[in-house]
Formats: sequence, C-alpha cells, structure tokens
Amino acid sequence: GKFDFKKIAEAELIVMSPGISSFKFPEFRKLKQPGSEVISEIELAFRFFRGKLIAVTGTNGKSTTASLVHHLFKVAGKKSYLLGNIGTPFISEAENIKADEYAVVEVSCFQLEEIKSFKPDYVILTNISRDHLDRYPSMESYMETRKNIFRNITSQDKVIFNFDDPLTQKHFSRLSAEENYRFSRKSKVSRGAFLSENNFIFRNHGRDMVFANSSYLQIPGAHNIENALSASLPLLLEGIDTSLIKKGLKTFRGLKHRMEFVSRFGGVDFINDSKATNVDSVLRAVESFNSAQGQIVIIMGGKDKAGDFSLLKPALNDNIKLVLLGEAAALIESCLSATVNLKRVKTMAEAVRVSFDRAKPAGLVILSPGCASFDMFKSFEHRGDVFKAEVMKLKEKQNG
Ligand code: ADP
Repeated sequence: GKFDFKKIAEAELIVMSPGISSFKFPEFRKLKQPGSEVISEIELAFRFFRGKLIAVTGTNGKSTTASLVHHLFKVAGKKSYLLGNIGTPFISEAENIKADEYAVVEVSCFQLEEIKSFKPDYVILTNISRDHLDRYPSMESYMETRKNIFRNITSQDKVIFNFDDPLTQKHFSRLSAEENYRFSRKSKVSRGAFLSENNFIFRNHGRDMVFANSSYLQIPGAHNIENALSASLPLLLEGIDTSLIKKGLKTFRGLKHRMEFVSRFGGVDFINDSKATNVDSVLRAVESFNSAQGQIVIIMGGKDKAGDFSLLKPALNDNIKLVLLGEAAALIESCLSATVNLKRVKTMAEAVRVSFDRAKPAGLVILSPGCASFDMFKSFEHRGDVFKAEVMKLKEKQNG
C-alpha cells in the first residue's frame, strides 16, 4: 500500500527493506534526521550477533561462493549458518549463533546501503561488473555502495578479493594494502590462493602449499575455479585441515539455476543458467562452453537492467546462436544482429523448441538470459523451472 511518511518519520529506529531504494525514492532520505536512525536488516542482525562472520559480496558468484564456504565448514565439522540474500535473512538466526560458530552471509549491494557497525571477520569480494543500473543513478554510486562493506574493517579482519578483476582493482584502493588476501586464476598472488598448472596453491608468509586441484570440482566453468579459490581461503586462514577442504571441494554439487545440467537428448545438452541476470554472467557461460563441440544456442532476454549487451560481441562467433525472449529481446537484437545469428520468440516453449532445432544434431542449449526475470516470471527460479519443464516436455515428445 501507500507509505505514510509522516507516521514513519515518528519512529526512533527505521529498518529499511532492501527492496526500498533511497536512490529511487528520495523521500526516504528525509527520514534520516536527528532522533531517528535508519538502518538495514543486516545492520540490525549484526547488533545481536556474537559469532564469526564471513560476508560474501560482489556482482556475480555470491550465492555459489557463500554456499561453498558453508559446505566446506560443514564438511570440516564446524557449525555454520548460510544466511542473507541467498534465502534465510541474517536476522532470523543472528541471536542463536554462538561465539565459536560461523555465519556465512551473502550480502547484496542493496543491503549495504544502510549499514553502520556491520563488520565481517572475512569479506570475500567476488568481482565487480556493470549491474543494477536500473536502481543506481550511475556506476559510481553502485561502487560507492559496494564500498560500504569495508566501512568498519580493521587490520584484524581479512579481505579476500579477486586479483584478476580490473574493476575491483580500479575502484577499491583499500584493497592495495599488503595485509589483504587475493585470489587469482591467472597469476601468482603475493598472498592468498591461486591456480598453477591446475593446482590450487595457498601462499601465506612467503610459503606455498598445494591444497587442491581443479579436477576435484564438480561445478563447470573457469569462474567456478575462482569461486573455489576464494571460498577455500577463510578455511585455510582458520587453520582447517586441508584434507577436509579437499573433501568439501570434491563433494560440492553447485546450485540450481546456475549452470545446472537439465537433460541430454537428440545430441543436445540443455543447461539452466537462469540466475545469469547480467551480461557478465552470460559471458562466463559462453566462455565455459565455447570449446565444447557443436552448436551453442543461448536463450537470452527478460527485463533489462540497463545492461550493455555490446560487451558480448568479442565472445560471439559462428558457433553461437541466440534465441531472444521477453521485454529486452528487441534491444538485444538491435545491438547484436550484425554480429550473431539470432531469432526472436514469444514463449519459453517456443524458445526451447527453436533452440533445439538450431542446436541439432550436436550441441548445447543454455538458458542464460542476461536480464532479470520479472517481465514474464515471478523470479529467476520460476523462469528456470519453466525452462526445465519445457525441456522435459520436448524430451517426451522426441521419445515418441
Ligand atoms: P550471485 O548470487 O552473485 O547472483 P550466483 O552464484 O547465483 O551469483 O551466480 C549468478 C550467475 O553468475 C550464474 O549465471 C553463474 O553461473 C554466474 N557466476 C557464478 N560465479 C561467477 C563468477 N565468479 N564470476 C562470474 N559469473 C559467475
């Protein structure tokens, strides 16, 4: 319903839902006046929290990385809670978590808008790319909000960041400090975790230790190597036995709707990557499968978030075709029609059918929309489920 600002302004403490943006609704900025405090839910939860906090933030890979950290702690026999943007709010459990227990909290940019004392023991910053420009007036204001995660960090706390990511490097001078930890798939970092000839190496105090191998991972794609490197660091720094970290990496199966294998028939693999809601995550999907044999068909489109689809151009080649769905279809078509073979469709059923025809006799169909889902679906989960259902219907039809 309607907000009664006069009534809300009378409150001493105002806890903002992450769905409400003070960038979009300037009236909310006026609530910040002497006598009333405006905070976010993670700030409120933190005021009741006594345990060890691992905050995972960044543009992409938050849910996968947070789930993996949580999984690794569980396999290592530690009590861990997976909370935040991924599902269960931090506030639901904050009071129950004991001093020697871990909370792995996925922190979205929106939740960082109103924090004051929120201070993680570990921050994992996965990467930064263009996103949410439907909410923020500029890339700069998106960056400024992300920077809030470091607001209360001291030298006791550990910051883990992506050494391969140029935007992270450019915007976060805080990260140049030597006491930080880095992860890299491409180069040997001075301190942190990196990949070298498929080995995962932990470097600390000038000493190197091999703690795992990329062949252990069940989750596909180079980006998941990055996620595994960063997720292992809090455990390595907590002194967890590496045999337990290895076991955890080997047994993590990934999450639904992120490069999720659906089915194979007629020579075609179907992959559900419905959570790819920005251009960078589509790029990662393309990179993951580009070397695969056969035709790659990507189902893209949905509700645009002011994404820059031209960033896909260098990754597109004759091996790739697009099938476009939803509100953003026309925009993507106008941006990429000179670069790649594409076709617009109206429904998910049609998208699956057309993609299958184009991928035959040997290929891959990926739902990797690069857009939000709200134009046609309730959520990215709903979109992924509809895709999977349509794939299974087509499979039955094929089987006669
Ligand atoms: P988030 O919680 O930040 O949205 P998810 O783990 O749910 O991240 O993944 C969202 C999308 O980004 C999926 O399409 C996934 O395949 C892709 N992805 C996962 N990890 C990374 C990464 N490290 N870099 C880029 N893309 C990633």
